[in-house]
Amino acid sequence: MTETTALQDTLASIHVAVTSDPTGEVASYIPEMACVNPDKFGMHVTTVGGNDVGVGNNNERFSIQSITKVLLLARAKLEVGSELKERVGVEPSGDPFNSLVQLEYERGIPRNPMINAGAIVVCDVLVELLDDPKSDYLSFVRKLAGCETIEFDSSVALSELLCGYRNRAIINLMKGFGNIRGDIDEVLDLYYHACSIAMSCRELARTFSTFANAGSLVETGERILSPRRTKRINAVMQTCGMYDEAGEFAFRVGLPAKSGVGGGIAAVDPGHYAVAVWSPRLNSKGNSVAGFRALELLTDQTGRSIF
Ligand code: GLU
Repeated sequence: MTETTALQDTLASIHVAVTSDPTGEVASYIPEMACVNPDKFGMHVTTVGGNDVGVGNNNERFSIQSITKVLLLARAKLEVGSELKERVGVEPSGDPFNSLVQLEYERGIPRNPMINAGAIVVCDVLVELLDDPKSDYLSFVRKLAGCETIEFDSSVALSELLCGYRNRAIINLMKGFGNIRGDIDEVLDLYYHACSIAMSCRELARTFSTFANAGSLVETGERILSPRRTKRINAVMQTCGMYDEAGEFAFRVGLPAKSGVGGGIAAVDPGHYAVAVWSPRLNSKGNSVAGFRALELLTDQTGRSIF
């Protein structure tokens, strides 16, 4: 049996196992996202050797939401060096992704770039340094995904703009502390559009395969990020990427990963593969129930994790 066939069989058995007893609720705080079919499930693996294996709705696009924060960080790292660390930390927050509490007593410096506050500061950096941040960012994502048809979903971005009271509070608080330099509306516009990007598991796995491949595109070998920066991005995913469930995720899955409230999770086994999974039903921490379990089964059944 080839490696690809074995992986295909593994994914097929995981698909059956995690979809037999659906639990969890679809995120409804962004009205435009509440109407997604809760029973979708897709999973896709892209290896650093360029093999692609997927199951279920792996080719259907969904809202990547917070998964975008990894890509925003990667894009910002092409523009700025260690000075970013003065404005956003790299410690887990232990608080929900949209919490304001820590920001107040830590004087507007977000704990890490994987929570909303941190990603908003990263957007502020991009707004300051790029001529056309939205189209620049979209081109960057398209390049990593190897797909020119990836788009923002403007209705999701608008829906969030209209009800994003907490994010507006977060950015105002940080502006008050001097950690936002640009215009608040411009920065939020980039943030909401970045979150609204629609991608499939196949496209996400391809995108994240660059983080599994020491910063080079799997398809062409072109270097996008240095191995050192890639290592750091993977480290931030590992410690901060799964909301305040990063410990549980390390314990059960053992891969650097980032989740989003759209029900997606992208994970990386450095030197081996990237995997993306999508199932919209979320647990109380905001992570996909079936997605989490699917990744646990994948690392259990393949016997591979970073630990
Ligand atoms: N756009 C969402 C927000 O700002 C992203 C949340 C997420 O996926 O964690 O609330």
